[in-house]
Amino acid sequence: MKIGFSVLKKPVEECFEYAAKNKFTNLEIDLYNKYNFLDSFTGKRINAVKSLAKKYKIELSLHLPYTLNLAEKVAMIRKANIDYAIKAIKLAKKLGAKFIVMHTGYLVYPRKEDIDKKTSLKNLIYSIKIILRYCKRYNMAIALENSGRNEGGLFKTGVSVDDFRFILENTKSKYVNMCLDVGHANLVEGAEAYIEEFSKKIISLHVHDNKGKRDEHAQIGKGSIKWKSLFEKMKQKNFNGVIIFEIFDDNLAESKKILEKLYIQ
Ligand SMILES: [Zn+2]
Repeated sequence: MKIGFSVLKKPVEECFEYAAKNKFTNLEIDLYNKYNFLDSFTGKRINAVKSLAKKYKIELSLHLPYTLNLAEKVAMIRKANIDYAIKAIKLAKKLGAKFIVMHTGYLVYPRKEDIDKKTSLKNLIYSIKIILRYCKRYNMAIALENSGRNEGGLFKTGVSVDDFRFILENTKSKYVNMCLDVGHANLVEGAEAYIEEFSKKIISLHVHDNKGKRDEHAQIGKGSIKWKSLFEKMKQKNFNGVIIFEIFDDNLAESKKILEKLYIQ
């Protein structure tokens, strides 16, 4: 089983030893973490991270900033977001990362005439199609992550099974996959609804818990997610992707123990 955690608070270089010591196989570099901004990866840093990954036998993935907006309605701004994603693909290739995770985008404080999911989704598809050219060129998979419900003036895409069906049907490519965020799904239809329909596309699971109201990123078992039945379902579907903890708690070794107990039983 591939299992890792998201590097949310530290320079990635500082996580390899801990990861290896606790038998994690993966690290996901959050590019929204101020220690790991995309442009901080100079040639020298890339080489250093690559050699650490090799030394500790850790597989890498990248997580693009949550603020990335591939569904942006202003074309010039959308282009900047696409350009960022392309740069991230190039960085992932240089680092030897296996895939990159990205959110699907949103409208900010939509006006009445804007509340149109289809337009946002179409903008997103347009962006993904451009990004796909680079996925092919660099042989790099992307994993689109589902979001939780709308909040704080954001009208999000990728918050429902319907959204993902539209996205996957309109991009049809082996490079376009899904990162199922179990915590986010718990705020809407629940993870099992996504697994039922998209199991073949799910290459990564983000695991963290909540009580169904707020995106708490809490320790496994601290919320209302039914982990046992969820993992049963994943096993039935022969999931062989990566499980990534996105927990704000620092005790990731403990998270791993809890999960292994749940998964193995
Ligand atoms: Zn996530």
